[in-house]
Amino acid sequence: MVRWLTTAGMALAFGMLVLGALVLVDARRDAWLQAEQAASNLVVTLERDIARNIAMVDLSLQGVIAALQQPGLDEATPEIRHMALFDRAATAEYLGAVVVIDAQGNVTASSNALTTERMNVGDRDYFGVHREQPNAGLHVSHPFRSRLRNGDPTIAISRRLPSADGRFHGVAAAALRLAYFQDLFNRLDVGSKGSVSLLRTDGPLIARHPFAESDLGRNLSDAELFRRLVSAPSGQFVATARLDGVTRFFTFRQISSLPLVISIGLSVDEIYAAWWRKAQAIGSILLVLCGAIALLALLFRREMLARIAAEGALTEAAEKLAVMAATDGLTGLANRRHFDLRLEEEWRRAVRNRSSLSLLLLDADFFKAYNDGYGHQEGDQVLMSIAACIRMTVRRPADAGARYGGEEFAVLLPETDAAGARKLAETIRGAVEALGIPHAGSPMERVTVSVGWATAYPQHGQPASLLIEQADRALYEAKRNGRNRIAAARLANLGTPSGHPGPPGSLHVAA
Ligand code: GH3
Ligand code: MG
Ligand code: MG
Repeated sequence: MVRWLTTAGMALAFGMLVLGALVLVDARRDAWLQAEQAASNLVVTLERDIARNIAMVDLSLQGVIAALQQPGLDEATPEIRHMALFDRAATAEYLGAVVVIDAQGNVTASSNALTTERMNVGDRDYFGVHREQPNAGLHVSHPFRSRLRNGDPTIAISRRLPSADGRFHGVAAAALRLAYFQDLFNRLDVGSKGSVSLLRTDGPLIARHPFAESDLGRNLSDAELFRRLVSAPSGQFVATARLDGVTRFFTFRQISSLPLVISIGLSVDEIYAAWWRKAQAIGSILLVLCGAIALLALLFRREMLARIAAEGALTEAAEKLAVMAATDGLTGLANRRHFDLRLEEEWRRAVRNRSSLSLLLLDADFFKAYNDGYGHQEGDQVLMSIAACIRMTVRRPADAGARYGGEEFAVLLPETDAAGARKLAETIRGAVEALGIPHAGSPMERVTVSVGWATAYPQHGQPASLLIEQADRALYEAKRNGRNRIAAARLANLGTPSGHPGPPGSLHVAA
């Protein structure tokens, strides 16, 4: 029971731990799913915003290209020409000039001014791209420092001017300040270790948050991370940056059909940070609780075991006490009190079972003289020897040898008939005599006992004292006849072996 309860307590503590762990694992997965979803949504939003803005710029470029094809444009006044070219040019905070560049790289018209100061952009990458690749389409350039706007980091979005003869006629280009991306990215909360990047699918990094001056003009095409970012139109993966050693969860998406990729990297540590704080708090509370339960279970077990042990000791002591209360201290036989109880008990049983009950009464012969001659202590030794003779003779569990008082002993023999009682009486007498303990004060010159015995078939209403009376009388007779002998009870009202009560005062049948 104690073991069961202890085990149950331990199981409860363990169960709580497991449950807590399951809940925390679930919460961890939730944190991840949430981050996954939030990053996906964020990337889609960014992609839409950037795509819309680039489309707007493209519309401006296409407006310029369409205007250039109007006949008679060259003859128009500079004002008319400017209006026709840049009529559809969008203006926005981040948008720089929209310009027309001729085949030599000279800026021939700019949305910013009616007259253009001489400027050549023939060295710019986008100019080279359009010159070499007639089908480059809408092109997004490397970041560069604008020559027009006091060195602002800028990209150019450009289209090749169409021509009927297939020859290169020049480029229409619009400048987009990187501040647009920077401001867009700054508004996002990607954590202190998170990052947002805009890349061209062939390697150049266009914009990155957090911004670092050194990122300008970086080419990532060699990085393993980059290869994964351009491996699909969109996706998610976890990777550790070689640069800062931070493990991030990347979500990326290509920007409409342009060769641009927007990617958000969230620090895995930060994704789990809130969860981790909660897990630590709940985990430690849980650990303390479970520890307390386990400790209580163990304390309970110890306490219960101690109690059980104490109870056992108490029971043992009580049993010892009971035995002591029933035992004669000198001889170890039953004492008088116990004998009286046993006699009553056996008497009633014999009435019920209509069985016989015999009793032997023993008395040491000339014992006063022995004490006088050898001392009281020697006398005690003799009493112990007589007790040993009784114990050796009386073997059946129900038989009870007892010290009746002084140098007198009684032996109760349930379900023993006259013949059996007589035999046992004689055996004990013989055994004591055979001890050969010298006794100078006795005519037998050794310690002897006299035994009186009686057998009864007790009837309802007869008292047990009858049996004692009879045996005592027999003992008296044995003494009178010379001691060291046995004698049977002569007269009794003790019934017959057949179970029929004899006539009152009839002769005892057991003799
Ligand atoms: P008999 O029975 O043969 O007639 O003679 P007796 O001397 O034995 O007679 P009595 O019954 O008068 O004496 C009993 C003596 O037994 C008295 C006492 O000295 C002795 N006695 C009784 N109880 C004890 C005891 O516990 N220890 C010892 N050593 N002696 C005891
Ligand atoms: Mg006596
Ligand atoms: Mg005596």
